[in-house]
Amino acid sequence: MTPLKHVLIQLIEENGPLPLSRYMAECLCHPEHGFYMRGEPFGRAGHFTTAPEISQMFGELIGLWIGDLWTQQGMPNSPALIELGPGRGTLMQDARRALHKVPGWPTDAPIHFVEISPALRAEQAQRNTGAHWWHDVTQLAYDGPVYIIANEFFDALPIRQFESTQQGWQERAVYAQNGALGLSPNGLDISAMIPQRLRRADVGEIIEICAPAQSIAQHLAERVAQSSGGALIIDYGYSEYGLGDSFQAIANHAFADPLEAPGEADLTAHVNFAALREAAADRCAVHGPVTQGAFLTELGLLTRAKALGAEADAQRLAGPTQMGDLFKVLAFTPHGSAHPAGFGAA
Ligand code: SAH
Repeated sequence: MTPLKHVLIQLIEENGPLPLSRYMAECLCHPEHGFYMRGEPFGRAGHFTTAPEISQMFGELIGLWIGDLWTQQGMPNSPALIELGPGRGTLMQDARRALHKVPGWPTDAPIHFVEISPALRAEQAQRNTGAHWWHDVTQLAYDGPVYIIANEFFDALPIRQFESTQQGWQERAVYAQNGALGLSPNGLDISAMIPQRLRRADVGEIIEICAPAQSIAQHLAERVAQSSGGALIIDYGYSEYGLGDSFQAIANHAFADPLEAPGEADLTAHVNFAALREAAADRCAVHGPVTQGAFLTELGLLTRAKALGAEADAQRLAGPTQMGDLFKVLAFTPHGSAHPAGFGAA
């Protein structure tokens, strides 16, 4: 039994079942035992590999995307680079190297990271000296234009799940029995909270809601609208509202049971890009989602891959059966700003 499983079972025995969102937050962010708070989750030796860890081309193209947007916006003074959930800090390091070749870009542009994990902050500092750190994007104080990146950040935010049962819609919660954890409807009918068109879904259907994702998207949209700049959100997920259970665990590069080893596996859910779009739409211009494959290809991935002899990495990033179709890209820009690259014709 993992140390966090002990802690959670005790918590459940004292207070009752935990909503899935609380379980997910504890597994990822518990100060002592949370998955991101311990050691080194990424890379070949860790539990999973992300796009910037596959190839330097990923961060470089994102740097050039920022440079192009900034240039088209008229090179506003004092831009800042902001990243949510920077992992090992590799993407920012690669993006900055590319940005330094963009004519006029200030090479001393400040870097702000939103990161909860002290272990990962230390990794990020090694690759990005002089960066500033925040726990929460709403704390981040900066008045100038902001260029914001979030790669595989939104999938780590805690979701709630609701299930259609014989007794109406109920929230799913984590129970403890004989030392094992289970996930099932909590017995309280909350059908009145469910949109009318879904109330008669088949028994067993599940909907997922990620409240933090929506409020963070709203915040990013407001910031971009007020201060200028742009935001780029990249993650695996779906473009339209839908039903289904996407809660999953990855450990040692393979799918695992998300209730088996709390704190020792990465827990995620697919990102609802339709909800992010909606959260931002009345605040700024929203572009996409487009697939990661289409986005990177439009930015020149294949030319860069040829120059580096890295065609196999390009295939991993953009191939439809690899990351190319599952991963989506969404951007926010201020109303009236130049159309960002990578999202097709304006
Ligand atoms: N962007 C990186 C890492 C993705 S993993 C990459 O592509 O390689 C998710 C990252 O988000 C980690 O750095 C994790 O510590 C951070 N994170 C997860 N939940 C968070 C939260 N609630 N607040 C701030 N950072 C969080």
